[in-house]
Amino acid sequence: MPDLCRIHLEIEGIVQGVGFRPFLHRLASRYDLAGWCRNTVFGVELELEGAPDALTQFCTALTREPPPLARVSKVRMTDGAAPTGEPGFHILQSRRAGSPDTLISPDIATCPDCLRELRTPGDRRYRYPFINCTNCGPRFTIIRELPYDRALTSMRRFQMCPVCQAEYENIETRRYHAQPDCCPNCGPQLKLLTPEGEEHSDPIAAAQQILQDGGIVGVKGLGGYHLACRADLPRTVAELRRRKRRDERPFALMCRDLSVVRQYCLVSPDEEARLGSPRAPIVLLRKRPEAPELLSETRELGVMLPYTPIHHLLMEPYDLLVMTSMNVSDQPVRCDVEQFPWRRLADAVLTHDREIVNRCDDTLLRVFRGRDYFFRRSRGYAPEPIHLNADCTGILACGAEQKGSFALSRGQSAFLSQHIGDLKDWETVRFYEEQIERFEQRFGVAVRRLACDLHPDYLSAEYARRRSREGGLPLVQVQHHHAHMAACMGDNGLDGDCIGLIWDGTGYGTDGTIWGAECLVGGYAGFQRTGSIRPIKLPGGDKCAREIGRIAHSLLWDAGLGEQSRHPLANQLTQMLTSDLNSPGSSGMGRLFDGVYALVTGRQTVTYEGQGAVLLEAMASEEKLPPYDLTFYEEDERRTLDTRPLIAAIMADRAEGMEPASIAVRFMESLVSLAVAHAAFAREKTGLCRVVLSGGVFQNRYLLSRVSDVLTEAGFVPYYHTQVSPNDQGIALGQTLIAAGGGGIPCV
Ligand code: ZN
Ligand code: ZN
Ligand code: FE
Repeated sequence: MPDLCRIHLEIEGIVQGVGFRPFLHRLASRYDLAGWCRNTVFGVELELEGAPDALTQFCTALTREPPPLARVSKVRMTDGAAPTGEPGFHILQSRRAGSPDTLISPDIATCPDCLRELRTPGDRRYRYPFINCTNCGPRFTIIRELPYDRALTSMRRFQMCPVCQAEYENIETRRYHAQPDCCPNCGPQLKLLTPEGEEHSDPIAAAQQILQDGGIVGVKGLGGYHLACRADLPRTVAELRRRKRRDERPFALMCRDLSVVRQYCLVSPDEEARLGSPRAPIVLLRKRPEAPELLSETRELGVMLPYTPIHHLLMEPYDLLVMTSMNVSDQPVRCDVEQFPWRRLADAVLTHDREIVNRCDDTLLRVFRGRDYFFRRSRGYAPEPIHLNADCTGILACGAEQKGSFALSRGQSAFLSQHIGDLKDWETVRFYEEQIERFEQRFGVAVRRLACDLHPDYLSAEYARRRSREGGLPLVQVQHHHAHMAACMGDNGLDGDCIGLIWDGTGYGTDGTIWGAECLVGGYAGFQRTGSIRPIKLPGGDKCAREIGRIAHSLLWDAGLGEQSRHPLANQLTQMLTSDLNSPGSSGMGRLFDGVYALVTGRQTVTYEGQGAVLLEAMASEEKLPPYDLTFYEEDERRTLDTRPLIAAIMADRAEGMEPASIAVRFMESLVSLAVAHAAFAREKTGLCRVVLSGGVFQNRYLLSRVSDVLTEAGFVPYYHTQVSPNDQGIALGQTLIAAGGGGIPCV
């Protein structure tokens, strides 16, 4: 008998109601494989046993020849149990997200069955805004502790009525053991808070009236509050920006259904599958000219579909509403809205009495080449584990500072937290610490080792040092870009050594300076820095994150073109630079982007970190243009890009009257050449050819796609993220693997 293997597969996409399980059955018979498959809330899972060759052939056929209406968007493979020698292949009964053998399920968008009941006059839950069943509804956001049981969720205070109780106990119903099950007689109630008081009789209609009149309404969702308003009223949208303190970040849009999305955006079948999935993320789509203005200054628009019954009811008279998170300058509503000064933001708030236990922002992703590419992995995904190649039990990785998150591991699973927010104020830190405690309790993991960022001032690192001191636990500090690199390796299941192109805004280097356009070689155990860019001096330090005109001035000054600067404080800045006063150097790719954006547009300030990079990409034309010539110098066995000739060339193009949109293309093409030059230098030194791409700058679609293509042409094997974000939210995964793999710097 040949050696038998057993694997476990989870398949997501459009895989239910399209003949997918019979297809799997046929495929299994064709390759003589035993096992089973069944539907789950998120797709189909199956376990297969057979010869290794046959398993490989099965997996290839799976993605090559699915049934015509099916669409596979994600296949996750893990080791199955030990082979059992069972004969044949079976289709099992569906597994529901409420069953005890599941881990904590992410929250699930309202299912078609519940939607039908919601809209059926006479149904006992007709128009009831909290309808749910075992296939849908709140999960993670209402769970206080495990086991997942009503008494340990925020549904505890709602005593089930006899009818609901009977459904709950009847295995034949769709609500068998649905912990959040309820009805108008026993469940939560909606109310509308207005400056005048509370409205209970028809809060939905009252909220719709305010929206209709151009007002702004706060809406309690699954994991937090949104601000909603009509997207077709420019004055209302402008007022929303004013109340949110002139933040220029794009606003997300909620569309009533897919046909509305298609009207305003270009949507591929893959993107439609994500939008309509039970995870219901915000998907970044290319907008059509018909899309409302003022929502986003880029070419993309973040769009989602209604995912709670409240949304479905509220959206009935509207094609689309702006839905942006309810906060002022990054300070989300963390408590119940009643204790929050909401009147500054909203004209009324549609809220209810089911408490949010775990705040969880909307997930934001883009579909890149058929796969998820996360900007923020949160509601609908957290706290689903990421599979690790190594046993990392007991490791708590504390993440970075921006886009704070942590990872707690048990066995080969890393439980990555939801998006916590920027760890810069005590309230966010308190939320972070509370979530860590809950994860430890829920997943039953005792922390045995800690990992944190090398930056001495990050509050997450301070937390790690305190835990290490108090608990006598070993702690490793992990260099920021090394962690990004390991995150992308872990995301792709890579072991051994590879090349990492890590481009982001800022990270603390092992030499105490700020890094951010790095080429590293190594693996989980350690790394070497083989490429970077000439550090850019930042006059005024942190001020440069918003005042990008300062960076433009610095780049010109460094290139010997200081007289071309148009900065109002030019003389003062030059003095700071010459005398090296409060002008730390940074090799951050984000800073180079900001500076070049300021140079080509003349714009002096931005309102959020990374905006320069986002806008430079957005303004680039579609022409094919050559890169600028690149000049390097070598120091400490590292190949460093000399930014001076690059800046001089950009200014020469400007002087000749080249369009800013064309300069943007030439600049980004130069970065593509930089990527290949850095990777080639690393390959010369090490013979490695696998290249992982990580860091927030790889949220830039142009760079991600061009760099991967050009690297492939040059004989490299590029890898990018598909399970965690390339930005600092993904850092905790990398820290985990480095702590397990013997890397990082032990902290004593
Ligand atoms: Zn349902
Ligand atoms: Zn009831
Ligand atoms: Fe970073």
